[in-house]
Amino acid sequence: MADLVLQFSSEQLLEILALAPNATAIYTGEELIIQTANDAMINFWGKDRRVIGRPLEQAVPELRGQPFIPIMQTVWRSGETYIGKDKEAKLFVDGKLQTFYFDFIYRPLKDEQGKVYCILHTASDVTAYYLNRRELEKSRENESDLLEEQQVMNEELLAINAELQATLKEQASTNEYLAETQLVLRALVNKHAESEGRFRFMVQQAPVAICILMGRRLQIESANDRMLNIFGKTSNIIGKNLSKALPELEGQPYLELLDKVYLTGETYYGKEGVARIEHNGQLTDGYFDFIYKPLLDENRRTTCVIVVAVEVTAQVNARKKLQKAEEQLRFAIEAANVGTWFINGNTNEFIPSVRLKEMFGYAADEELSLDEALNLIHKDYRDQVIRAIEATMTKGEPYNVEYPITGDDDSIRWVRSYGKHEHDINGGAPHFSGIMIDITEQKLDDIRKNDFIGMVSHELKTPLTSLKGYVQILGSKARKQEDAFMASALQKAEIQVNKMSSLINGFLNVSRLESGKIILDKQYFRVDEIIRDIIDDTLITSTNHTITLHPCGPFSVYADQEKIEAVISNLLSNAIKYSPGSKNIEITCKLCGDAVQISVSDEGMGIRKEDMEKLFERYYRVEGKLTKDISGFGIGLYLSAEIIARHGGKIWVESEVGKGSVFHFSLPLTAQP
Ligand code: ADP
Repeated sequence: MADLVLQFSSEQLLEILALAPNATAIYTGEELIIQTANDAMINFWGKDRRVIGRPLEQAVPELRGQPFIPIMQTVWRSGETYIGKDKEAKLFVDGKLQTFYFDFIYRPLKDEQGKVYCILHTASDVTAYYLNRRELEKSRENESDLLEEQQVMNEELLAINAELQATLKEQASTNEYLAETQLVLRALVNKHAESEGRFRFMVQQAPVAICILMGRRLQIESANDRMLNIFGKTSNIIGKNLSKALPELEGQPYLELLDKVYLTGETYYGKEGVARIEHNGQLTDGYFDFIYKPLLDENRRTTCVIVVAVEVTAQVNARKKLQKAEEQLRFAIEAANVGTWFINGNTNEFIPSVRLKEMFGYAADEELSLDEALNLIHKDYRDQVIRAIEATMTKGEPYNVEYPITGDDDSIRWVRSYGKHEHDINGGAPHFSGIMIDITEQKLDDIRKNDFIGMVSHELKTPLTSLKGYVQILGSKARKQEDAFMASALQKAEIQVNKMSSLINGFLNVSRLESGKIILDKQYFRVDEIIRDIIDDTLITSTNHTITLHPCGPFSVYADQEKIEAVISNLLSNAIKYSPGSKNIEITCKLCGDAVQISVSDEGMGIRKEDMEKLFERYYRVEGKLTKDISGFGIGLYLSAEIIARHGGKIWVESEVGKGSVFHFSLPLTAQP
């Protein structure tokens, strides 16, 4: 041993050892005399060069009671290398006993006879790495810490790798150590790859857009497809700095925000931020909820920033549209002077608008309850309104009512109210809401017009009746005198007078109906018989059509005969009027349950669907090429519908344009006097 030691001068030995980046020492004998130790090793011990030449136990007395000296003595005796990993050592450094972790090798160097002549001790301080790894093992249990773990591990690996590179170059002699370290590194690299793979998979699959930016220059380390999609870019941008990859961000606040996050290490939460991004060469605005989360190293310095974003453009646009629509609606409501109300279906809470309160004669700051409002409705209409509200709230029927409100001074204000029952789509309470418009002026106009029509029709009726009388007398005189021309002319005159009188009766009836003065004069009569009479009367004047009555009756009904006759006459004369190019008109009457149903069909011009819905409204006439030369006022069907409704029956139409129409009405047979 001594020979061999003497082969090196101590300077040479020191030089060799000093070159090694790893801490190295050489011991001889069972008492482990420190032959030499480089600065790195002496630093580990926290001592100075005076330890050289002294037994290890004396030089580093705190090792007493720790396992190292006995292990080294075993190496000395057995000649077998000992490799230690992550071994805890307590050393007196900087005046205090501290715990370190070392990877080390006690390698016995042997002479030609195989006798150990010294122990080469190499060691590296793995305290930081060991503690980090222990931390990581703990945090690995928590999946959400994966990103931090990844980061720390990356840095560790970089550090270890750099260290290893250096070791590789400079310490070719400690092969075993290298092999060992390489194994460790490989395992770490595998683990890193596996963890990185897992991490990338997670990023790619994440249901939100994610991108990772490295360093203050915000180099795009990775970005999933969702994020690339938001950016409107391809994976070509990976590796570039964010400001270069998305030059359009210049002038927008995001780069500045990210820089602030990088510098402060504080997470930033953004809500509905507008970002202008280039998509297919076009700059488009998008809205995003986003988080800038910095990942910090052990010194609390930002290493990267994770950007997580969710595009909310569709939601924001939808909300803006809704807000705009609401604004427009509010504007329209205000401009139209419309009142609104809202009734909570669960609590029956009634919320009227200021304008609605006004219509009920209440001031803006006065409370108006639903009961108070109902009480102010004219007594003749109150029950009808209450029934309509109930039907809407329980059966969802559309609410459309017209009624007068009685003011304090007995003044009348007419209103029309439309409403709807809604099951709230957002899970809120069902509610009944709607609008109310003041139609007093219109209603008063209608009443005035109605009164005028009633008065005129009434005034015309008397002279027309006497005109008819004279025409009839003259007609019978002419027939007696066998003046054929005069007789035929007077017959035609009588037909025209009849037409005029039925028209005037129609107006009179409308006016009576509107003012609630129409009274049903009910009696029993045979509906089949009156149909036959009406057909006979009609055929006198209409020679171009054939009217077929299918087997009918006998059906006795309890109704206002005159008015039912008016309905049948109207349907029949319409069938003739609106089928100028065809001949056939058919009438059927049959029993349907406890009602008699009468149907008048023609093969005329037919009616469009959109007109069919309105035919029974007052003064409604179909405008068109075919109808423009046919005279009428649009009151016949209105009156018919009102008459049938007042008898508890139904009236409706089926029609096809160009093919013809069928008008049906039904009258209950069970109606009792
Ligand atoms: P008027 O015939 O005086 O116009 P009505 O109230 O009787 O008034 O009819 C209303 C409208 O219904 C008519 O203008 C016409 O356009 C349409 N109509 C009524 N009956 C028929 C029918 N049988 N075929 C086609 N259209 C019809």
